[in-house]
Amino acid sequence: MSKLDEHLAKAEGYLGRFRETGVLNHINGEAVPAADGCVFESLSPIDLKPLANVAHGKALDVDRAARAAKAAFREWASVPGGERRKLLHAIADAIVARAEEIALIECVDTGQPYRFMSQAALRGAENFRFFADRAPEARDGKALRAVEQLNLTGRAPIGPVGIITPWNAPFMLSTWKIAPALAAGCTVVHKPAEFSPLTARLLVEIAESAGLPKGVWNLVNGLGEDAGKALTEHPDIKAIGFVGESRTGAMILKQGADTLKRVHFELGGKNPIVVFADADLERAADAAVFMIYSNNGERCTSSSRLFVERSIYHKFTKAVAEKAKRIKIGHPLDPDTVVGPLIHPAHEKKVLSYIDLGLSEGAKIAAGGAKVSGPGGGCYVSPTLFVDANNRMRIAQEEIFGPVLTAIPFDDEGEALALANDVQYGLAGYLWTSDVMRALRFSEELDAGMIWVNSENVRHLPAPFGGVKGSGIGRDGGDWSFDFYMETKNVAFATAPRRISKLAN
Ligand code: NAD
Repeated sequence: MSKLDEHLAKAEGYLGRFRETGVLNHINGEAVPAADGCVFESLSPIDLKPLANVAHGKALDVDRAARAAKAAFREWASVPGGERRKLLHAIADAIVARAEEIALIECVDTGQPYRFMSQAALRGAENFRFFADRAPEARDGKALRAVEQLNLTGRAPIGPVGIITPWNAPFMLSTWKIAPALAAGCTVVHKPAEFSPLTARLLVEIAESAGLPKGVWNLVNGLGEDAGKALTEHPDIKAIGFVGESRTGAMILKQGADTLKRVHFELGGKNPIVVFADADLERAADAAVFMIYSNNGERCTSSSRLFVERSIYHKFTKAVAEKAKRIKIGHPLDPDTVVGPLIHPAHEKKVLSYIDLGLSEGAKIAAGGAKVSGPGGGCYVSPTLFVDANNRMRIAQEEIFGPVLTAIPFDDEGEALALANDVQYGLAGYLWTSDVMRALRFSEELDAGMIWVNSENVRHLPAPFGGVKGSGIGRDGGDWSFDFYMETKNVAFATAPRRISKLAN
């Protein structure tokens, strides 16, 4: 039996329960259908056949979930940090125990290749462990001394929070947002993306099987415009942690205005990779290829704009094109597959429309550029490289969120910087040069929340994660996550009987 056949058989086994009962919501420890009984269908990106019926939650379901999260909040917030630490580690252990199930389900739900998703559960478990270990100190603060006064600061969880996640890397991203919320002492209502609801269901079950009390973590499936909107407007929800498109972030900001929601946004990107002639070009080419074509290019930190010094532009883009053409497109459950089907026909249509647009704008295709027939007949698009492009083209300005790279030449450092910054986004940047002074100078001026020098994207959990400009508000990672999920309080003690101004005798 080939590895693909083995994965197919196992995935079918794991999917059986979803095909039978559908994907239910989870409110106050109970798996429940939507209050009005409505469901929506989740499609397989591999063969476009229905995978499961999903509870179509709306405002009433969100209200029930928010009330459950509110009712559970005081008790959960008062659990000592050391106990929360133990429980979150138990969740991580339970995730690891079901890593294969999570990986296979994630692949069939999203079309992401197994070679990348095999790590999704383990990365999710690491997120839980990282924040678990910091739970005991999350409340700690500072002692700030003044004349005749001692200020003591401390933090407390903000309350029930809403977490809204996108369809790319749904499992990993859900753990990335939910683990710090729980470690801080918040309770959660999670609204996963409608295109990829399956692993969010597994995750809440895993957490409760590991001992998380009922009501601490609630799940409502539904569409953005009903369940998502209701969550952002709910008065009991104190903050919204959101990962998704920039324009959705703008809507959430408006929707949350009346209830003064605190928001944390991880939004879109159009991230530059800048390659100078003095760089290690073989490694830079591999990194350029990896950062746009891995995860089907459906990645917020993908390097979708390639700026190359003119003297090496032709040679470098040729190397990237050759590598792109050799990438294996295939079934996501085949461990050899590098690029699988895109998430949904609607998204495939968007990606293909950008390929047409690039051609009509005058750019040339050096690799890919078409829909291809892959196993199951789903949404397969070949790894695509546009050359002879310029920064004014829409393919150089707008987030395509697929395996499409736009390469533009530059003459000097100043021009490279101006081009890289001339975009509405500012999530990540990648810089390739052997000149240390230039790397320092350039990275200081580049508009991006995260920059990797001579490297692809390698995450370090204590480091801040987030973007500037249209790419986000706030930072995750390290202590930054706790700053979002917690309120800081200051108590000032008089240390001497200082004279109080008398306004009356
Ligand atoms: P999306 O914005 O369409 O949807 C994200 C989530 O928001 C979904 O759960 C959706 O149902 C919900 N939603 C939609 N409208 C809403 C509304 N009015 N109110 C409340 N919720 C609403 O994004 P997507 O297409 O699912 O994901 C792709 C996007 O996510 C890309 O732009 C990508 O760059 C971004 N992303 C960013 C990061 C990051 O860390 N910066 C990480 C991953 C993905």
